[in-house]
Amino acid sequence: MFSNLRIGHGYDVHRLVEGRRCIIGGVDIPYERGLLGHSDADVLAHALADAILGACRGGDIGKLFPDTDPAYEGADSMVLLARVMDYARELGFEFVDADCTIACQQPKITPHRDAMRANLAHALGVDVENVGVAATTTEKLGWEGQGEGIGAWAVCLLQKTVKE
Ligand SMILES: [Zn+2]
Repeated sequence: MFSNLRIGHGYDVHRLVEGRRCIIGGVDIPYERGLLGHSDADVLAHALADAILGACRGGDIGKLFPDTDPAYEGADSMVLLARVMDYARELGFEFVDADCTIACQQPKITPHRDAMRANLAHALGVDVENVGVAATTTEKLGWEGQGEGIGAWAVCLLQKTVKE
């Protein structure tokens, strides 16, 4: 009876550097460094977009929005995320639920968590209660803990709405 459900998983990493904005989950977080990337480098939006594409077996965001394409330079990842969900809907899928984790020593994520959830839900056109965001430090271990970059994971459940 659950054969029309598909699960997807996404993972993304961006390097933390000086002279860039730190945009995570569509929230521009005041911080001395920011995330490096071709687009706005929103690591959380990218992980979730890849989870959605995984669930609809649609490839990955690198395929949909190549980082060699100048059209996506500085792109708002909330717009890319909305387009990914549009694409999933075109393939006959509807969003069910998602949960995300950000691995980051600094800046603090928790004060921005509800705003991130609201931004992601808005981009996807779904209820905020169906998008979870959590954050963890890595106890100063590894590249996340040393502040070299920020990583994010997302899982998402889609439901196939069209009979195959
Ligand atoms: Zn990315």
